[in-house]
Amino acid sequence: MNLSAVGDDIERVIVTEEDLQAKIKELAARVDSDYRDRDLLLVGVLKGAVMAMADLARALQRNVEMDWMAVSSYGSGTKSSGVVRILKDLDRDITGREVLIVEDIVDSGLTLSWLKSNLESRGAKSVEILAILRKSDAAKVDVPVKYVGFDIPPDFVVGYGLDYNEKYRNLPFVGVLAKHMYS
Ligand code: 5GP
Repeated sequence: MNLSAVGDDIERVIVTEEDLQAKIKELAARVDSDYRDRDLLLVGVLKGAVMAMADLARALQRNVEMDWMAVSSYGSGTKSSGVVRILKDLDRDITGREVLIVEDIVDSGLTLSWLKSNLESRGAKSVEILAILRKSDAAKVDVPVKYVGFDIPPDFVVGYGLDYNEKYRNLPFVGVLAKHMYS
């Protein structure tokens, strides 16, 4: 779906499709090099990380396993509650595994910091985080994100997996949702 298909719902594009795809290749090369000769399990956080997972996994030049978790985050509003609930758990035991969490965006960091400790407590050998977007001004929790795509301003964004009321996930770029859409 391109920009013209969403009319004036998007105030401005902040990360283009080309920039996203170039960044994914760059991050994949770093992951390939950091995890050389080590097994790797990618854990995607549903549903926002679907596009990033699909692109990252295909850009990696190695075998990886993929699993998925779903946790509650914003619900239908635009502010993080800090309350995390598992809606769908991993299918497999991760004891001794090297895990890379793939996330769409880190805002307050509450979700990822909770998720990282949760996976560590299951006996994973290592748990690192890759986030395509980071709202650096908003970090309430000091969560170590090893791989970051883009630092963005603290606006509410949609696209490349990110939604507003389940819409806009299939935009190939990241844009700021126009205020008139939710206020
Ligand atoms: P955090 O716990 O870091 O504040 O929030 C993380 C989750 O909130 C993300 O996984 C994402 O689902 C959601 N989120 C945070 N910022 C945005 C945003 O700008 N747009 C959308 N669509 N979701 C966001």
